[in-house]
Amino acid sequence: MNSTEAKKPSKKTPNDFLFGKVIGEGSYSTVYLAKEISTGKEFAIKVLEKKHIMRERKTQYVMREKEVLMKLNHQFFIRLYYTFQDADRLYFVLSYARNGELLDFLHKVSSFDEECSRFYTAEIVSALEYLHGHGIIHRDLKPENILLSDEMHIQITDFGSAKILKKGDNLKEGESPESGQPTRKNSFVGTAHYVSPEVLTSKNAYYSSDLWALGCILYQLLSGEPPFRGSHEYQIFQKITKLEYEFPDGFKPVARDLVEKLLVLDPTKRLGCEEMGGYGPLKAHKYFEGIKWETLGEKKPPDII
Ligand code: ATP
Repeated sequence: MNSTEAKKPSKKTPNDFLFGKVIGEGSYSTVYLAKEISTGKEFAIKVLEKKHIMRERKTQYVMREKEVLMKLNHQFFIRLYYTFQDADRLYFVLSYARNGELLDFLHKVSSFDEECSRFYTAEIVSALEYLHGHGIIHRDLKPENILLSDEMHIQITDFGSAKILKKGDNLKEGESPESGQPTRKNSFVGTAHYVSPEVLTSKNAYYSSDLWALGCILYQLLSGEPPFRGSHEYQIFQKITKLEYEFPDGFKPVARDLVEKLLVLDPTKRLGCEEMGGYGPLKAHKYFEGIKWETLGEKKPPDII
């Protein structure tokens, strides 16, 4: 059996699982903790009401999420094991990220110490290297979408806004956005804090739009708040396009240097993007000194205190 065959979700039915508590609710989905009867294995099952999806015109978003999840096979991402449906609902059987969202941990401790920030930023870098290597841009990377496994490793989720680049795709500024994606004028979904300037000005996302989000997340892990803040979305967008943000006192120079190399208005000048030599130079940044990239996922994460 080759790896593609091994990954293909086989057909199950809701009767193969015992449904337990609700883990969380999205705007058009409910996620349950569930146990597979034959193995006793726990999963998170995302249940989507077909009528609701149609009414809200979210079919494309749901299909995108499924398509991307089926392509991913890496420990730093939520895995899709099975999909099935009945007359009224769609079911996505996912790995259960028992420790919930990175954002909740950040809120509990206000900000991460140096070691934790470095470790989790490195895991996100490693995950993005894999994702971009598979031709996928996440486009909605933020601490709510970074879940944590039993062992406290990251498991990135929420691929409804992702873009899969086909061979030969060349995203240039000025191209019209693909249909159904958030634009400046129509409803911008999710939180505005991590959106890159090119998405706001040209409505285009590049691989390096995820690197911009990475810069925002690193800043937030260390300081407790995202770099671009404001009382309205419009105000936040203005600050993003003008690169208007400040570092709080005590922000370490080496971390500051990395943030400044990620929060660059020109998407082709961000550390980690293809034009800047790819992931090698990003992983070689001084901030990551001491990180063993090959064994990151096997290492016991530092305690979040
Ligand atoms: P929206 O659709 O409104 O953007 P969302 O993407 O958070 O919201 P869901 O993906 O349905 O919606 O997730 C709902 C909640 O369930 C979230 O709080 C999320 O943290 C949690 N959740 C989703 N998938 C998992 C999982 N595999 N393991 C653990 N918790 C999960």
